[in-house]
Amino acid sequence: PIESSRKQHVVVMAFPFGTHAIPLFNLVRKLAIAIPNTHFSFFNTYNSNKLIFLASNSSNIPSNIKAYNIGDGVPMNNVFTNHPIEAVELFVKATPENFYKGLEAAITEIGIKISSLITDAFLSFAVVISKEMNVPWIPVWVSVPYTFSIHVYIDLIRQLYENDEDSDSGDKTLELIPGLSKIHIKDLPDVILPINRTNLEESPFECMLSKLGRMLPQSANVDMNFYQELYPIPLLDDLKSKFPNLLNVGYLTLSMPPPPPPLLSDLDVTGCLSWLDRQKAMSVAYISFGTVATLPHNETLELAEAVEASGVPFLWSLKDKWKDYLPNGFLERTSMQGKVIPWAPQTQVLAHSSTGVFVTHFGSNSVNESIANGVPMIGRPFFGDHPVNGRIVEEIQGIGLRVEGDVLTKSRVIKSLELVLVHEQGKEMRKKVQSLKEIVLKAAGPNGSAAKDFKTLVEKLSM
Ligand code: UDP
Repeated sequence: PIESSRKQHVVVMAFPFGTHAIPLFNLVRKLAIAIPNTHFSFFNTYNSNKLIFLASNSSNIPSNIKAYNIGDGVPMNNVFTNHPIEAVELFVKATPENFYKGLEAAITEIGIKISSLITDAFLSFAVVISKEMNVPWIPVWVSVPYTFSIHVYIDLIRQLYENDEDSDSGDKTLELIPGLSKIHIKDLPDVILPINRTNLEESPFECMLSKLGRMLPQSANVDMNFYQELYPIPLLDDLKSKFPNLLNVGYLTLSMPPPPPPLLSDLDVTGCLSWLDRQKAMSVAYISFGTVATLPHNETLELAEAVEASGVPFLWSLKDKWKDYLPNGFLERTSMQGKVIPWAPQTQVLAHSSTGVFVTHFGSNSVNESIANGVPMIGRPFFGDHPVNGRIVEEIQGIGLRVEGDVLTKSRVIKSLELVLVHEQGKEMRKKVQSLKEIVLKAAGPNGSAAKDFKTLVEKLSM
């Protein structure tokens, strides 16, 4: 721990959707342990805080972190339809006032002026707050650096491709942007190039993200949920030239190395880890599409039929409410072949030697966890950063494949499973992902770059 007689007060602002708040909280927990005489006020919505504190054993939470629930912007008696973006838009409409209220409460309660502001990088208004309070702004980017760069170059990308007729097919690549030459226009998040949008006016959420490219260069440091060693050279050089204070603090949803076996058994409430123990090495398909995306009914059917017909042992993380989408009798017929569970201890599943492939939505944390455990992927991207992640996995890193047309059909899934689990091409993918795992293990070690960058962050917060 850093020696310091002065007490500091670091305020942290989370983006409470998808798997954004968990990596941010994990970083804060590490920081709070490293700087015990600094207070951390963690602002997040009630629902997201509840999930985090349920997931972390509360005895593991250092006493110098205090969580505050801030308003989620949902009006009383609001009835949601089924689209996850509705809650996001309501929340964004309530910003930044909800965070200002939290700030007042925390300053009064802790009685120490704020010394730094760490936020999810999506919260672009934080730059204004940091200027008002005259404190450094440290955004944390939980997605991959490629999408960070896409936001940094938003104006240029719009200028080059928005009114370009050749861009209509979406197959054009971002050749003029350093490090992004393999990314296709159709991979970009909607907010960047709204060519597919019916509503041309930006929503509050899109408006917040649109400003990122101009706000991020005003930050003191940027923290990436990534390792310096994993960047392609042009991307790293280019980002470092624009952000000399870029810090890569490593993957934030896993503790590296994985926890020892006695701790694992506590997590195995569904028995899936002991089931994995009984399967052949590298034989199992682990299936999960993260916490937000819902696989359409027809694709759930096709996937289930493919898995059953292939005979591949499977572990499927599927919420109970979507089990009705499975084919009639599927659970009974496949009870010896696989397991459907409402939630999996994913990092432990991916670390298990029986896991052979991860069928995923290409969410950033899922991709990171697959790489850190050397597991090749089959992906079906949905929205946001998923298509970019899929492109990187398939074309840049060669450690998985993206299902044709980004839609699951029985024949495509059977073909993909065979390719990854049996064919030479799959073996190649496994070799490549295993070598990335080695790089991550080294970078995450005590003398690796992530520890060095983390130390720099600790020093900055302690100044
Ligand atoms: N996850 C898990 N068990 C599950 C499904 C997901 O532990 O059954 C975790 C997974 O390990 C990852 C996160 O949920 O850390 C999903 O994050 P990601 O960025 O991949 O997707 P999102 O949920 O943001 O769409």
